[in-house]
Amino acid sequence: MSLKLYNTATRRKDTFAPIDAKNVRMYVCGPTVYDYAHIGNARPYIVFDVLYRLLRHEYGEDHVKYVRNITDVDDKINAAAAEQGVPISEITEKTTKVFHEDMKALNVLPPGVEPRATAHIPQMVAMIETLIAKEHAYVADEHVLFDVPSMKDYGALSGRNRDEQIAGARVEVAPYKKDPADFVLWKPSASDQPGWKSPWGWGRPGWHLECSAMSKEYLGTTFDIHAGGIDLVFPHHENEIAQSRCAHGGAPLANVWMHNGYLTLEGEKMSKSLGNVVTVRQLLAKWPAEVIRLNMLKTHYRKPLDWTEERLRETKDNLDRWYRVIQGAGMRNAENPPSEFLDVLGDDLNTPAAIRAMEDIEDRTQLKAAGDFLGVLQQRPEAWFKQIVSVGMAQEKDTALGVTPVKTYSVEGIEKLITERNAARKAKDFAASDRIRDELKEGGVILEDKPDGTTDWRRA
Ligand SMILES: [Zn+2]
Repeated sequence: MSLKLYNTATRRKDTFAPIDAKNVRMYVCGPTVYDYAHIGNARPYIVFDVLYRLLRHEYGEDHVKYVRNITDVDDKINAAAAEQGVPISEITEKTTKVFHEDMKALNVLPPGVEPRATAHIPQMVAMIETLIAKEHAYVADEHVLFDVPSMKDYGALSGRNRDEQIAGARVEVAPYKKDPADFVLWKPSASDQPGWKSPWGWGRPGWHLECSAMSKEYLGTTFDIHAGGIDLVFPHHENEIAQSRCAHGGAPLANVWMHNGYLTLEGEKMSKSLGNVVTVRQLLAKWPAEVIRLNMLKTHYRKPLDWTEERLRETKDNLDRWYRVIQGAGMRNAENPPSEFLDVLGDDLNTPAAIRAMEDIEDRTQLKAAGDFLGVLQQRPEAWFKQIVSVGMAQEKDTALGVTPVKTYSVEGIEKLITERNAARKAKDFAASDRIRDELKEGGVILEDKPDGTTDWRRA
C-alpha cells in the first residue's frame, strides 16, 4: 500500500516518506481540559486514530510514536474553576478522566505519550530563553513576546497576509507589544492564578508554546506528521512553527501538516451561545459508541461534516447490516482486510470510500478485519442487537463529572427487551421474564409492572 497524505503546508497530496521508518513520529494537539468534549472536539481524535492505526499497520506497532498532549494550564481552565468555586486541579483532573473515558468508549487508541503542559514548564522556560538569546523574543512589562517581524516567512502555513494575521489573531491592544502580531510566550500570574518561578517573574506559559516544547521533548526537533483541527492552522500552528523553527535554527517542525474540517450540527455551527452544543457523553447515552465513531468516518476528514440524527440512524443501519453478516463468524482473528479497502484508506485516509468498499465484502472474516481496522464491529453480534451501549452515561452535565460510567442500555434496547419480557409473561414463561428483568437491573434499569398489565421503566 502506498500512503498519500494531503499536506496543508504544500497544499497537495504527497506520498508519505517518514524520516525514519523505524521511528515514525506524529503529534496531535490534545484537549484543553476545562469542560466536556463536544462532538466537534472528538473529530480529530477519531480521524487521526485511523491514521495512527494505518501507520502501525504499515510500519509496525513498535515503530510509530504518537504524542497527544493535555493542555492543563489555560485561562479557560482558570475561568471554569473560578465560576464553579473549586480548585483548578479539580477541574483538570476530572475533565481529563472524563476525556479518557470518552476516548475509550469511542475506541480511540491511547497515544504512546500523553504529556501534560504543567509537567513541562522547565522545557518551556528553556525554549523562551533560547528565543530571547536569538532575538526572536523580547521581555516587556513582565511578559515575554514572540517578535513576529523577526521571522521572515511567518504565515507560510496558513498563507495569511499581514493584515489577515493581525485581524485573525484577535489580540487585545497591548501597549507593551512592539508589533500587533506579536504573541505571548510567557505572562505574569496573579497570586490566585497558577504560576511558576521564571527569569521574568512569577507567571505561566502561553498556549502555543506548550506544544512546541512538548513535541520537541518527545519527538525531537523535526518529526513526520503534525495534525489537528482546521481551526488550529492559524494562529496556533503558525505560532508553533514560528517558535520551534526560530529556536531550532530554522529546522522544520513537521514535514506533513494535516487538518480535519469543521463539524456542524443539523446545519448549524455548534456554540455555547446558541445552546446547541452536543457532548460526546450525551451522544454515548443515546447511541452505541460504534455508531458515533463510524458516523464520524463516513465523511472524509478534510470535508465539512454535518452531524445529524438522520445520518446517525443511517449509520446504525450500516452497522446492523454488517453485524448480521459477521454473525456466526466467531471472534477468531481475521486476516487482513481486502487490498481495495487498504488502498483507498491509504489515499489520504479516504474513509468514506473504505466504508463503501465494506458494503461489497462478502467474506465475513474479511469484513470483520476491515471493521477492526476502522475500530468498529468490536462487539459480539448478539450483544449488538440487544443495543447495549458500551459506556452509557445518562447523568446530567454537572453530576457526571467524577461519576464512574456504568454499563447501560439505550432506550430502544430497553423497550425491545420489555416487549420480549411481556411476550414471555403472556406465555407464562416466568423464567425468561425474570431473566430479562435481572439483566436490565444489572444494566441500571428498574422495571415497574402496573396493575393494568403494562410495564414502566426507569434508570436506577
Ligand atoms: Zn498544539
